[in-house]
Amino acid sequence: MPRPLRRAVALAAAVAASALVLAGCAPDGGGRPPATSSATAHARRSATPRPTPTPTPTPTFDKSQLSIDDPTSIWVVVNKLRPLNPRDYVPPDLVQVPVQHVYTPLLRKEASDAVVAMFAAAQSEAGLGLQSQSAYRSYSTQVSTYNGYVASRGQAGADLTSARPGYSEHQTGLALDISSVPAACTLAACFGQTPQGMWLAANAYRFGFILRYPADKTAITGYEYEPWHFRYVGVALATEMHDEGVETLEEFFGLPPAPDYAPGG
Ligand SMILES: [Zn+2]
Repeated sequence: MPRPLRRAVALAAAVAASALVLAGCAPDGGGRPPATSSATAHARRSATPRPTPTPTPTPTFDKSQLSIDDPTSIWVVVNKLRPLNPRDYVPPDLVQVPVQHVYTPLLRKEASDAVVAMFAAAQSEAGLGLQSQSAYRSYSTQVSTYNGYVASRGQAGADLTSARPGYSEHQTGLALDISSVPAACTLAACFGQTPQGMWLAANAYRFGFILRYPADKTAITGYEYEPWHFRYVGVALATEMHDEGVETLEEFFGLPPAPDYAPGG
């Protein structure tokens, strides 16, 4: 090969290699583009303009693929305006969740499997111990709990403390209160600042859970900040909400805020 030609081939190879490096730096979407030196920017400007690529359509998440009304749906939305129907609903596939716990936890099978995976990941990825504090609670349990509060504090006082029977997410078999091992800040707002609370807030979506009652969403969810209460909605929905940055089911599904019960509810 004549010397000038060999140089040209070498140059072409170098250009191709640097193009590959640039392509490898491209953000996979949503991220900030890599910092560009002025030399690279100049090279880009003077490069032969490529035809405008047809934008890849963003796959639209189908918000109607599962019911938000059917109590057996993992997307069911329960709040102070949306009681379970029927109110004395009992989930069909409750199992005992095989994890460390304070009270024997029952959840629906799919949610139970997800809890097992999530607790194992917290331990293996971050060395954090978790346990189930409280999981499924039946309609009849909620009746006696709520009526006990009404007797001692009146209905307004009871409503500040306990969900009315038929209105508790714990009755779906898809909600779980989680605490630390060793216990710290159990069922308290400061749980959100514990390593366990922070790990859960950042990672629960990977296992299909959402932090159902965020700190600044009381006017929407009707509940104060509960950094320990996680609701299983499946990995697809939890990941979509995480990626969109939408925190509550009410906002995601365009439902009215539910700060309080309807009169006579
Ligand atoms: Zn709870």
